[in-house]
Amino acid sequence: MPALINPVELIARKRDGHPLSSSEITRVIEAFTVGTLPDYQMSALAMAILLQGMNADETLAITRAMLASGKTLEWPKDGIPRVDKHSTGGIGDKVSLILAPLLACCDVQVPMISGRGLGPTGGTLDKLESIPGYRTDLSLDEIQSVVRQVGCVITGAGDEIAPADRKLYALRDVTGTVPSIPLITSSILSKKLAEGLDALVLDVKVGHGAFMKSLEHARQLATSMVSIGRQMGTRTTALITDMHEPLGRMVGNTLEVREAIDVLQGGGPGDVIELTLALGAEVLLGVGRTATLDEAGALLREHLTSGRAYERFEQMVAAQAGRLDQVVPPAPSFDWPADRDGVFDYVHLESLGWAVISLGGGRKQAGDKIDHSVGLECLVRAGDIIGRGQPLFRIHARTGAEQHIEHHLRRAIVIRDEAVTSRPLIVERIGL
Ligand code: URA
Repeated sequence: MPALINPVELIARKRDGHPLSSSEITRVIEAFTVGTLPDYQMSALAMAILLQGMNADETLAITRAMLASGKTLEWPKDGIPRVDKHSTGGIGDKVSLILAPLLACCDVQVPMISGRGLGPTGGTLDKLESIPGYRTDLSLDEIQSVVRQVGCVITGAGDEIAPADRKLYALRDVTGTVPSIPLITSSILSKKLAEGLDALVLDVKVGHGAFMKSLEHARQLATSMVSIGRQMGTRTTALITDMHEPLGRMVGNTLEVREAIDVLQGGGPGDVIELTLALGAEVLLGVGRTATLDEAGALLREHLTSGRAYERFEQMVAAQAGRLDQVVPPAPSFDWPADRDGVFDYVHLESLGWAVISLGGGRKQAGDKIDHSVGLECLVRAGDIIGRGQPLFRIHARTGAEQHIEHHLRRAIVIRDEAVTSRPLIVERIGL
């Protein structure tokens, strides 16, 4: 770190609730990236930021600095818009798998850089690795080549994009400093904006199956990301969407890939289709492909039902060396029945995510190997009237999994005596 900055003084200033200047933030991130600012000082600063927050200028400065720590994708000036979406993570959220090839049918390109499972929520890359051979480690040159050839790609960030975020996220993960709105904003946007986008839509989940448990917090995060995205020159909007029950019917890697394929082939559950179309419409409107959200939704629906989006998906998987005819088969299944009559509801959806992890479908620790074949089929939805003995979940598991899963399922659900009020899937749109 240049001699002019004293990290102890910066940490103390933030600890006491004072703002840091843009150049101080830039230099801190530069020093942390190259290793001259040690992890213990960066962790202390992250905790000070979590407790005291950052104003809009500071959040912009940290996002810029994290983005500048790595490379960005450069696109030819060919008039083709580049667009993407990011979800803050939910249970059963397989929208990315459908949306990237679907948007690629609409004369836009989608250089989607995705992540792995985080806590109880699944990750797009883990899901895609249920397709044998599928490469999630493309270089920037390979990303550009697949996008040129197919119109879309879904891959990991690799070492070249926002290395400051990779280092900082690893520290935040083990120092209790993940749930900070400015740090989440800069972490997500530094990776997404490195894609060189014209438009971005954010799916900010709210509910007991999401990172953001309250509408107020979801709104703060969505507003922060939309505002910073726009200041960085990308048309950014956000949808706040419900995560009190799983999206779709399938939870678990290979099951979710299969459900995404069902949707791409014109079937699949209504909520997955509704959300995919709504998110896609935001970016099509953002780049002026259509004049209204309704027109964009209709265009997307047409590409979904015609099978063209599925063809793109096949092309993308092939371009990334995946063998779609060999998708991992689901593990053997058994049904989990209701123990009484009543109305089915979720009370702690996160536990459903932990249930899949307990079956081996996610990581308990970094580096754990994932069993792509395991997961849950949700056989009823919140608000359904059910009878004693009726199967609620079909559990795909290795032998002996019953004892691992029982207590997670019991925490996740309740069978009520009274009716359950239904919730809208799309709660709010943040366009600023
Ligand atoms: N996802 C990210 O990429 N970063 C965060 O900080 C939180 C969720």
